Amino acid sequence: MIFSQVLLAPADPILGLTDTFKADPRQDKVNLGVGIYKDEAGQTPVLTSVKKAEAILLEQEKTKNYLGIEGVQAYNHVVQTLLFGEGSALITSGRAATAQAPGGTGALRIAAEFLLRNTDSHTIWVSNPTWANHQNIFETAGLAVKEYGYYKAEAHDIDFDTMMTDLSHANAGDVVLLHGCCHNPTGIDLTLAQWERVAQLCADKKLVPLFDFAYQGFGAGIEEDAAGLRLVASKVPELLVANSFSKNFGLYNERIGAVTVVAEDADAAVRAFSQVKRTIRANYSNPPAHGALIVSTILNDAGLKAMWVQEVKEMRERIAEMRTLFVDSLKAEGVTQDFSFISRQNGMFSFSGLNKAQVARLKDEFGVYIVGSGRISVAGMTKTNMPVICKAIAQVL
Ligand code: PLP
Repeated sequence: MIFSQVLLAPADPILGLTDTFKADPRQDKVNLGVGIYKDEAGQTPVLTSVKKAEAILLEQEKTKNYLGIEGVQAYNHVVQTLLFGEGSALITSGRAATAQAPGGTGALRIAAEFLLRNTDSHTIWVSNPTWANHQNIFETAGLAVKEYGYYKAEAHDIDFDTMMTDLSHANAGDVVLLHGCCHNPTGIDLTLAQWERVAQLCADKKLVPLFDFAYQGFGAGIEEDAAGLRLVASKVPELLVANSFSKNFGLYNERIGAVTVVAEDADAAVRAFSQVKRTIRANYSNPPAHGALIVSTILNDAGLKAMWVQEVKEMRERIAEMRTLFVDSLKAEGVTQDFSFISRQNGMFSFSGLNKAQVARLKDEFGVYIVGSGRISVAGMTKTNMPVICKAIAQVL
């Protein structure tokens, strides 16, 4: 038999954990593995701005005809504005071209295949550590993956010197994956001064930045979080962006994101974009409409946009509140180890510094699920589950 020779794939380090969590019969179990925003009631509700946009769409939708290969055009335009800012020269000059993609993952995969088939840029540098799926996506697409240092475990801080030294060994044309904000898993972002140096290095060594921008609005704010991307884009002739609206619009299962190519001039952008579209055509022909129509309906309506901005702010502030509460609750449980670094991290995740054995004990003995690397989804914490989490951590330390 042919299929009987196929080996069983290992469980996905993040989604596999959710499967184990679901099968766990314990009542007070807590899933802090996957990056999903939970409100104070522990729910992941549909945003009100999204519900309102969906009501408009239901009313107005006239056809289910195919979209073009690049997706909803009004959507692609609002994506560019979110990325580069209203009236950005990158947009008006025609140097940026955007195609709708199935989530940030789909966008990364399209970007990788575009690079592989149309350029000599076949090596990508990713931070160590990085989101567990990066290596998987890039290697599956056929790129060679190398790592640059990013994190000093002892100091719970960025290892910027190692990052720069490692990237100084990259060859011209190599691609550098950069997390736009809310670095996953460490929660530690570059300062503007550091972005400046990375931009200069990319320009000097002719490296191609590929921004993974999955958490715009979860760091300091929607515009603020794009500062690194905008700075780099002002210094290099070419770059790629894979962005996602799974988290900041709560559109996880709509699979909505985009891939954006910035080329040296409008002419090169047209040619590059034609190959991006070819890649899409060969993969899934053209994207589904619903998520893109929701996002473009919201962002093209001043009232709905203001509502969305407020909803993102509430999510961001609730997570920040949970960070402080987490640090305080650990202290209250008698933990003497300094966890104050957690309140300085950005976005949904906290890189706790807990080791594999401690992570395993949290799961096995206390039903508290976090990723093996020690990454905790702070966005899954609530005032209700906090005591369970902190008591368990105090026991395994
Ligand atoms: N990039 C990073 C850094 C992420 O954390 C995620 C999701 O967790 C993604 C990309 C993928 O997002 P999507 O669910 O839109 O594919």
